Amino acid sequence: MRSAILYGPHDFRIETLPEPVLAEKEYLVNIKACGVCHSEIHQWESKIPGLEYPRFIGHEVSGEISKIGKDCAKFKIGDRVAAWVEGKGYAEQIAVKEERLFLMKHDLPFEHAILEPVACTTNGVIKANIQLGDTVALIGTGFMGLLILQKVKLLGASKIIAVDVRDEMLVLAKQMGADEVINSNNQDVKKTILQHTGDSGVDVSFEIGGLQATLDIAAEITRMEGKLVIFGYHPGKRVINDLGYWNWMAFDIINAHFRDMSTILKGSAIGMSLLNSKKINMGSLITHKLKLDSINEAFELSRDKPNGFIKSVVVMD
Ligand SMILES: [Zn+2]
Repeated sequence: MRSAILYGPHDFRIETLPEPVLAEKEYLVNIKACGVCHSEIHQWESKIPGLEYPRFIGHEVSGEISKIGKDCAKFKIGDRVAAWVEGKGYAEQIAVKEERLFLMKHDLPFEHAILEPVACTTNGVIKANIQLGDTVALIGTGFMGLLILQKVKLLGASKIIAVDVRDEMLVLAKQMGADEVINSNNQDVKKTILQHTGDSGVDVSFEIGGLQATLDIAAEITRMEGKLVIFGYHPGKRVINDLGYWNWMAFDIINAHFRDMSTILKGSAIGMSLLNSKKINMGSLITHKLKLDSINEAFELSRDKPNGFIKSVVVMD
């Protein structure tokens, strides 16, 4: 089977490897799609000290069961599944434990069943414990932000405010249910949000962009005793500009990251049911499909975000 191996900066190579050997309770999955994750870009841009290269990345996988290991009971050959995996996703095949596989409905395209971001946003929104009627601001409405938006909408927020720097993302946010949109490049975010919330700030802010700027905005627009949810992935150093202010405002600070496997798998199961029941529109978010041979290009697109780009997915055939 063919696999993309990351040797160093901008250097994926496609090599042929033996078929994975199945352990107990494992299935062989013929991978059909693997989403390119924002969290992988920095590993591809430069060699990260402490990380071993060559490395096998790719963790947003869906595919078809092609072989059944010992003591497996849940799936049969040909079943379409989404998987929670921790790498090796940019390949034609992968061995996956039964508990980490989730059945896809037949009419769901493989590139829509990239489960990990759906699981993460599901768990983040659950942890934020949105209440009916809450006002919610989303700071950074790229791919993850638009997934969060759809879930916050399902929970009955009274007002959803999308903040981003790309107008085309804000147009899409509006189509997906945002009540107000703000371009932070040319609008005063704090002033506009205070206007929309009777001068108090929002009940819940989601910091999604993973930047110092988005973190700073979140603190400026959350109401006293409101929830400040740090969802963004922050690979670099970040600082709280004024802890005294955070303190005085009595923010309920929520770290929406998860490491416990049972929580992750629970979020995966809920995320899968939302995808299967079409409560989440993934079709509008997958803008670029590239073959395994073009994986470097898929990463370039994710880094450069050209006009119209939201998410790229590597497809195997
Ligand atoms: Zn991911």
